[in-house]
Amino acid sequence: MESYMKKDGSTKTLFDYSPQNQNYIIVNDLLEWEQKNNDVPLLNEKTAIKVYNMISRKFGSWKYCNLNRFSYSQKRNFIKAKPLKRVRKCWIGKDYYNNYERLIHDISHNLQRYRTGDDNHSSSQSILEKEITFWIIENDWFKDKVIQKPKIKLVKIKPTKIEINETKISKLDKTIENQEKKIKSIMESMWKNKTTRNRLKNLVVKQKQEK
Ligand SMILES: [Zn+2]
Repeated sequence: MESYMKKDGSTKTLFDYSPQNQNYIIVNDLLEWEQKNNDVPLLNEKTAIKVYNMISRKFGSWKYCNLNRFSYSQKRNFIKAKPLKRVRKCWIGKDYYNNYERLIHDISHNLQRYRTGDDNHSSSQSILEKEITFWIIENDWFKDKVIQKPKIKLVKIKPTKIEINETKISKLDKTIENQEKKIKSIMESMWKNKTTRNRLKNLVVKQKQEK
């Protein structure tokens, strides 16, 4: 890293204007600007995982990069309950609060490892982080997927004893009505058969007489 040394020997480290650092500055600048000017949805554990997996699918592989593939000890880095002392906070813990910075940075590391086998900070890792940031902003923070709609609960009203019995009665009414219909139809058919039989009997008697 470049530094400037004064005559008295004190040195000042100069800002590193490498392409890698420029990308990080762009990412930070964009995220800050978006959070000031756009209604960025808050992450919680559930939505952070959802967003993580969507980014994985887009920039890596659904099969190899989704969060379910992480063992608990690998995941533990993201689940810390207290914020890290560094600037970027963890994003699955209870202190999540607009932590897209951390989420995007972490996932860019993991996807970089998937793509190249090496997850160190590098210019290609910073480019990936920038691309992911562009994509998230382009998709308006996946608002429709991240913001949870309130669930409508159907309230079940418990019927009274009278109502239960009334329901039973009306069911029985229907059953009886059906049974009566069946009986009526059997009776009709039986009468028809009897009539036919009697007619035939009479016919046979007549035929015997004529013989
Ligand atoms: Zn890093």
